[in-house]
Amino acid sequence: MLGTGSPIPDANRAAPAALVKAGDTHILLDAGRGVVMRMTAAGSLPGMLGGVLITHFHSDHIAALNDVITTHWVMTQENATLKIFGPEGIVELVDRTLAMLEFDIGYRIAHHDEMTKGPQLDVTELKPGDSFMINDVMVTTAATEHPPVSPTIGYRLEHDGVSVALVGDTNPCEGVDVLAAGADAYLQSVIRKDLVRQIPMEMIQDILDYHSDVVEAAQTAARVGAKRLMLTHMVPAPPAEQYDAWIALAAEHFDGEIILGDDLTTVSI
Ligand SMILES: [Zn+2]
Ligand SMILES: [Zn+2]
Repeated sequence: MLGTGSPIPDANRAAPAALVKAGDTHILLDAGRGVVMRMTAAGSLPGMLGGVLITHFHSDHIAALNDVITTHWVMTQENATLKIFGPEGIVELVDRTLAMLEFDIGYRIAHHDEMTKGPQLDVTELKPGDSFMINDVMVTTAATEHPPVSPTIGYRLEHDGVSVALVGDTNPCEGVDVLAAGADAYLQSVIRKDLVRQIPMEMIQDILDYHSDVVEAAQTAARVGAKRLMLTHMVPAPPAEQYDAWIALAAEHFDGEIILGDDLTTVSI
């Protein structure tokens, strides 16, 4: 888990993102605030990525995609192609990101004789249900539910007999069940609806209807037979002394391993 935060600024939590290392292949899930710093701490760099998977276009999941693109471009000296996958709209989003970067790209090409062209990108728009390979990692997709954000996509990665479900912001839904079925790890954005209801801000009450609660994530994990439940994107972000209480809530419904951690929490399977 590279980042375990949310849109709410947090000195210790980057935006929600995850890195999967499967054999020699590194795959990034989402690219929000702080993602390249956290990748570096996790022993990876944009130039090492086999692919970037984007779940949806809320800012906390894409705000640093430009940093991933630029760092990949500069550090590979324009010799490598970065593969980016996402739901319908990802091509337009990346095109607009490149438009934002246009000045910088021009400066660097003007300044460095070695650089002759801008970032080399291979962007793929996915439909729910699409599947594809990133090196020897099998990626399957399904629709998730985060209305009014649409489309949104969750991912399942399989490599060498190990499977992980990487689900972004979503209510419990059939797509999540399909992705997480029997998974060795199931990563889910979660909120605590009981605590959010106590926050006297109308705008924050709006998040109740498009996120999974901790209990719902645990119920999903149990229903589909996932082996590990990894909780991220916690709102409100718990201080360390509350981790046990969050885990205990989930454990009432799921008897597998439950992981709630700080940024850079690593699980080896
Ligand atoms: Zn979202
Ligand atoms: Zn989010």
